[in-house]
Amino acid sequence: MIARYKKSMLNAYYNYRYWQNIIQSMKYNLKDINSQHNKTCTYLNKPGIAFSFDDNFRIHHWLQYGKGLFGYYDVKVTFNINAFHHFENERSFTQEEIDMLLDLQSNGHEIAHHGFKHKRATDFVEMFGMEKWISEEILTLFEWMEEQTHSLTKEKLKKPATFAFPYFKSNKECVNALVPKYFKVVRGHLDKQNLIPFNYTGFTPSICIDVKFLKSIKMLKKILKFLKEFNKNLILTCHSILPDEQNWDDFGWGKESKPAGQWRISPKLLGEIIEIAKENGLAFYTTSELAGIASFIDRNLESYIRYTFASSRKWIMIEDLENVTQLDLSNKNITNLDGLQYFSNLESINLIGNNINDYRLLKKIPKLRKILQ
Ligand SMILES: [Zn+2]
Repeated sequence: MIARYKKSMLNAYYNYRYWQNIIQSMKYNLKDINSQHNKTCTYLNKPGIAFSFDDNFRIHHWLQYGKGLFGYYDVKVTFNINAFHHFENERSFTQEEIDMLLDLQSNGHEIAHHGFKHKRATDFVEMFGMEKWISEEILTLFEWMEEQTHSLTKEKLKKPATFAFPYFKSNKECVNALVPKYFKVVRGHLDKQNLIPFNYTGFTPSICIDVKFLKSIKMLKKILKFLKEFNKNLILTCHSILPDEQNWDDFGWGKESKPAGQWRISPKLLGEIIEIAKENGLAFYTTSELAGIASFIDRNLESYIRYTFASSRKWIMIEDLENVTQLDLSNKNITNLDGLQYFSNLESINLIGNNINDYRLLKKIPKLRKILQ
């Protein structure tokens, strides 16, 4: 009894130290990034959080407990996926699960790259070389994503612009092989500086807030205050979204799935974090938005914007759009306006001849006066 009490006190102490170290290093290294970048995301002009969720086999958890929560708070997040189930004999994903992913995408969430088979990058490269890792873990998932189609809407997955290292394992060699050739940012875990500037390229750290690490919201509160104070952003990584009372063993994924069961956050805690972030005046971004990339739900809108403003670029950058004052989008077969919020200086827009039911997004554009619809 006493031994158990001692052990739990010790664990609480270690956890306190773990977070204290993160906070200390943030304070210590702030000078460095402050001198380099001072810009926030222009369309909201607010520092913010990007929630990043890993592993495709958790899709049912994301849908069941995340989709409604994010919809309620109007928060867009990033889901990093693989093409195979971690358990269930590494089966591939069913059409129903593909539809679920596309459903998240059509709600404005980012679907990003997490390795085809979730291999440890560093080990794989050491054993088989960089070329094989790129072809088997990176290119194969791009191809797989391209092949998937929603069974009803026929919507396709977008080509991901960001990557998350499986098991958080990375090194400089892997980062350099991926950026900027395939991705604008690649996400890992803790680094000496975890706050990131807007429009960033390269290796991006994140803080894991699964129950394995985050035992109390107190320390995180301090960190969220820093974001506001220093105008910086932070990626918070999680895995499954599950209520505390949900027993992991009930999924029937066997003994080998046990460690994966600790990588979870409750919808209640996630909601609390969102509330605190809002109280602190923080915005919510996807990983690619933090990297300065503009994304659109509507494919026709996206291809027109790409053609008109970013034809020479690999990605449509938010900074390409912020000086535009007029947009003629007449007869473009557009159904969804999401993404127009990046045009922060837009004054007039022509939307005649499209099939749009919801114009609420236009209210987010501060200088917009003239609307033809
Ligand atoms: Zn993973």
